[in-house]
Amino acid sequence: MTKPIPQSITCEPPSHALRVLEVLEGAGFEAWVVGGWVRDALMGEPSHDVDVTTSALWQQSAAALRAAGLVVHETGAAHGTVTAVVGGSPVEVTTYRVEGAYSDHRHPDEVRFVGSVLDDLSRRDFTINAIAYHPARGLLDPFGGRRDLEAGLIRAVGDPAQRFEEDALRVLRAVRFACRMGFAMEGATHRALRDAASGLAGIARERIGQELDGIVTSGRVGWALLHETDAMCAAIPELSAMRGFDQRSPYHAFDVLEHTAHVCNACEAFTAGVAPRELRWAALLHDVGKPATFTIDEAGRGHFYGHPAEGALIAERVMRRLGLPTALVRAACALVRYHDHVMTSTQRSVRRTLVLLDRACPGRAYRLAHQLLDLKRADAVSKVWKVAGYAVELDEVDRALRRERGRGRILRAGDLAVDGADIMRQFGMTPGPAVGEVLSALLDAVVNAEVENTREALLAMAPLAAGTQAD
Ligand code: ATP
Ligand code: MG
Repeated sequence: MTKPIPQSITCEPPSHALRVLEVLEGAGFEAWVVGGWVRDALMGEPSHDVDVTTSALWQQSAAALRAAGLVVHETGAAHGTVTAVVGGSPVEVTTYRVEGAYSDHRHPDEVRFVGSVLDDLSRRDFTINAIAYHPARGLLDPFGGRRDLEAGLIRAVGDPAQRFEEDALRVLRAVRFACRMGFAMEGATHRALRDAASGLAGIARERIGQELDGIVTSGRVGWALLHETDAMCAAIPELSAMRGFDQRSPYHAFDVLEHTAHVCNACEAFTAGVAPRELRWAALLHDVGKPATFTIDEAGRGHFYGHPAEGALIAERVMRRLGLPTALVRAACALVRYHDHVMTSTQRSVRRTLVLLDRACPGRAYRLAHQLLDLKRADAVSKVWKVAGYAVELDEVDRALRRERGRGRILRAGDLAVDGADIMRQFGMTPGPAVGEVLSALLDAVVNAEVENTREALLAMAPLAAGTQAD
């Protein structure tokens, strides 16, 4: 990594942050912009929300900011944090502090307010996050954060073993920053991180979920699986069973976890690095059902019958445990469940797949069908080279899917060109389940491309459909 990092910030913090500095310093305190904004600004990406650190106690910050006419929320007063709102933009203001242990793995047991910004910077996790900036005083970078930004390194502030011991979540934060920024792990930090990974078992699940989501949505989770395997397996214990799992299959060149890493990377390649969040999660978990469904036949060949359905159940359990949003869980699990579903370019096959996806995830069938194709492509190119050509065959399915989209939706009975009233009127039926059964049979017929979705064709077929139901 050789990106030159400027000697100082080349763009000033946004005016709402400058106003907060001005008010606090006007009241006799010291204040700096710190953390993510400074890091990202040095990288030329100043789009970050702004954190301010100050010598003022939170009550003093709140009083000074309110006296200047600003709205102040006491968002984390126990930890010394208030949020000032300037012209609608929030700025977090935190008193210089150091932290005690995190015995509940959520919040430090105690925070101790300290007198100097240097002490405050020393409690921060990584050198690149421990840089302060002030428009008049410039950068304060006591741990070589700029040097590490330039070198592309994640390095713990102070003794890495101790820092990961204090808060094991930092293990995942290190992986997340490495993924997001494309950085490497500095050697001692890496060794300490691997030793401390098992400590993630004691961390609150939703904190792990948040960091993992950051890793997955960075687009570099494949890298994390290959290079930070201990951390990833500690964060999701279900991945451990995939590690080193020999598939004993002529179709596979890698163990299950390595294969998964290649699939994650290939999803990024097929989507030009902008894979949707549910596809990224699905790629990570698509084969999580393999270890539990493994069998060996008489010829010594491995099989994983039913692994997509089993995988969808495990993926749902994992994602719910991590506190991920329900819509994301449903969509990702639908992709896991159908990742081996045979899909050809016939109208029947395309429609049947869409109906399955609509049932699993109402309203999202078309979007998910395209993602399913990307997952299948990625899966194909991550096996032995002999089956990689399937990825190209899927282009034909992709074209068929686009054609089908152009023809109009046919996913549910409500999409048919006839409704229950038509059926009752035409055949003298009274309301009841039989009407629904006829519509359902007609939907099957249209989905299977046995009849056109037109009023005439459907009414002509309805007696047959009713007959089928009666049998
Ligand atoms: P992001 O872009 O992910 O928000 P960030 O650097 O702003 O990056 P935050 O989690 O918002 O990260 O935290 C703000 C700052 O607080 C960090 O830059 C870091 O200095 C410090 N920090 C946050 N979490 C920890 C932690 N667990 N241990 C030590 N320092 C931390
Ligand atoms: Mg932040």
